[in-house]
Amino acid sequence: MNNFTYISAADTSSALKLLSESPNLNATRFLAGGTNLVDLMREGIEQPKALVDITRLPLAEVQELPDGGLRIGAMVRNSHLAAHTLIRAKYPLLSQAILMGASAQLRNMATTGGNLMQRTRCHYFYDKAAACNKRVPGSGCDAIEGFNRIHAILGTSPRCIAVHPSDMCVALAALDASVNILGPSGERRVAFADFHRLPGDTPEVDTNLLPGELITSVDLPVLSSGLHSAYRKVRDRASYAFALVSVAAALTVKNGVINDVRLALGGVAHKPWRASAAEQSLRGSAPTLENFVKAAAAELAPAIPRRDNAFKIELAKRTIVLVLSELSTDDRGAR
Ligand code: SF4
Repeated sequence: MNNFTYISAADTSSALKLLSESPNLNATRFLAGGTNLVDLMREGIEQPKALVDITRLPLAEVQELPDGGLRIGAMVRNSHLAAHTLIRAKYPLLSQAILMGASAQLRNMATTGGNLMQRTRCHYFYDKAAACNKRVPGSGCDAIEGFNRIHAILGTSPRCIAVHPSDMCVALAALDASVNILGPSGERRVAFADFHRLPGDTPEVDTNLLPGELITSVDLPVLSSGLHSAYRKVRDRASYAFALVSVAAALTVKNGVINDVRLALGGVAHKPWRASAAEQSLRGSAPTLENFVKAAAAELAPAIPRRDNAFKIELAKRTIVLVLSELSTDDRGAR
């Protein structure tokens, strides 16, 4: 039994104040939907000394921005976001990705901010008998020589090969979202691509959120007209399973060439993986099968397979090619 203090915050400033007044900042956590944090606490992986409940914060709105983009409050529930009229109309890719994550019950609880903060589902991270640099820095990584079928093939380090578990975040990476953050030094905005981290030498640090900071919202930019988009998730069973590989893609073709392309991968890296090499290869080229195959090969060229996950390289290539092929010929996904 681990005792902890529970405090409920009424607004963002009191949430930050409660956090800053905590005697142990590093052992204090914000509690939103709790769909991952509570599991981690039950398993003894997270042992916070204090929880600051932020479920009452007035951050549960989806608002249109003056430039036509959207602001999603950090406390907007995943189910609400996926069903929101403006999200379905303007960003169907995001709605599809959310609906492919978790279960209906979990989506009813899970929040936008919490989705960004969820931690890897690496088996060894959850097994306190295993060596895990993310759970105990410097202890080693049992996944590297162990059962690593679900692990990363891109952006890994000798310290950690875990993957980020979110579907929603893969769509947000492809959409060039940005994260609005409030902290002791005021407000700041971080490009979504810079929010999550690769493992490097510090796999215990998942994001670039600083101690004492709170995610307040996520902004979606205006998309170019005629953009076709889709989210494809490949997993071991049809529901309630994490992605082996997922692809979030958006494409505009004008005058026979690819004018705008956004591509992000899930299930392959420690963070939602923006497929910049593939995008670069595709921009300005014809939307042909040959060019899609070439772009997928360029993206996966630096992949490092482990004993059990080499299949992900081919799976990622084929999924990229399939999604791009569908988008380039199907008007139904146009937004
Ligand atoms: Fe831990 Fe990362 Fe290794 Fe998994 S892959 S055991 S999370 S260090």
